[in-house]
Amino acid sequence: MSDAFREAVIDLDAVTANVRRLRQLVGTPHAMAVVKANAYGHGALECARAALAGGADWLGVAEIAEALQLRASGIDAPVLAWLHDPDADFAEAVESGIDLGISSLAQLEAAAAAGTPERPAFVQLKLETGLSRNGIPASVWEIAVARARELEETGALVVRGLFSHLSNASPEDDRAAIAVFTRGVEQAEEAGLRPQVRHIAASAAALSLPESRFDLVRLGLAIYGLSPFGPESASELGLRPAMTLRGQVAAVRRVPAGTGVSYDYTYRTSAETTLVLVPIGYAEGIPRHASGRGPVWIGGERYRIAGRVAMDQFVVDVGDAEVAVGDEVVLFGDPATGVPGADDWAAAADTISYEIVTRLGGRLRRSFRGGAA
Ligand SMILES: *Cc1c(COP(=O)(O)O)cnc(C)c1O
Repeated sequence: MSDAFREAVIDLDAVTANVRRLRQLVGTPHAMAVVKANAYGHGALECARAALAGGADWLGVAEIAEALQLRASGIDAPVLAWLHDPDADFAEAVESGIDLGISSLAQLEAAAAAGTPERPAFVQLKLETGLSRNGIPASVWEIAVARARELEETGALVVRGLFSHLSNASPEDDRAAIAVFTRGVEQAEEAGLRPQVRHIAASAAALSLPESRFDLVRLGLAIYGLSPFGPESASELGLRPAMTLRGQVAAVRRVPAGTGVSYDYTYRTSAETTLVLVPIGYAEGIPRHASGRGPVWIGGERYRIAGRVAMDQFVVDVGDAEVAVGDEVVLFGDPATGVPGADDWAAAADTISYEIVTRLGGRLRRSFRGGAA
């Protein structure tokens, strides 16, 4: 089977250029490239290297296992992991020099237990400031920062950072959370902690709320060339989508008017027409919710899916256009080239571009262009 039958092509030079551009825009001393969830479906190792090449000096992931994978591939840049299962192996993380996001007193003690004066645990205290996910609640900050300082003095750990995460509910909500975070930073400093990095902004706040930037911004979606504010803003910001999702036409048939298409016949042809089969389905992460709506580019024209998305495939009604088996089909890529964007798919499926790119999988191949490789 040819690679092009169904593949996500990742332009690593776009990731590098996006990071470079974002560093210019935000101007913080440090920038973390967030490569969790296989770099939002773009390939964690390749994107981590591309982001470092563009000037990111930190990497961020959710789980320790994701961080260990980066280490196993020889990536030695600072990495922060912030979401731990109850039995997480902090010893291996400490051994590998991975920074641990700490969201409870229990995690603080577990990190200290895994550290030694020769190899202290690097921790970053996550302060809950209003998102109501994880993070140390404000009621416990005083105890937590005092205990962290005590543990620093034993040599078991080093508090390298303090951080939190914003709701993006509104600028006012985010400013309120930043004020709460600032109080937490002050408490930590009064307790004698000297964190190298204080951070609260992900892509949205980093781009829109300068007072959220502190020492470091955690950039996820934007490094992949997508904007949390929608498609126009990505190009206005000078960001280029890194992923192109494409495939090859698997079958073509000429049918009469009134032909039912795909399961449940939610689409019927209105005239004699040509139906084209695209071999990518919900097993690959195409939202079934985009049935009848998802945009597709074939031979320079844009169409919509005809009828239901199935597990392995969907159908497009191309009218009288000349389309042949093997022709290229682009589901989304860089809208500047005339193809639909991930944002168009997000609109078609009532979701956000984050979900469109991250959920891709199944039998899709990932191939990479550009980069050092
Ligand atoms: C996923 C995540 C990010 C990155 O968010 P984007 O909106 O993609 O930039 C940053 N910080 C935390 C804690 C996250 O979970």
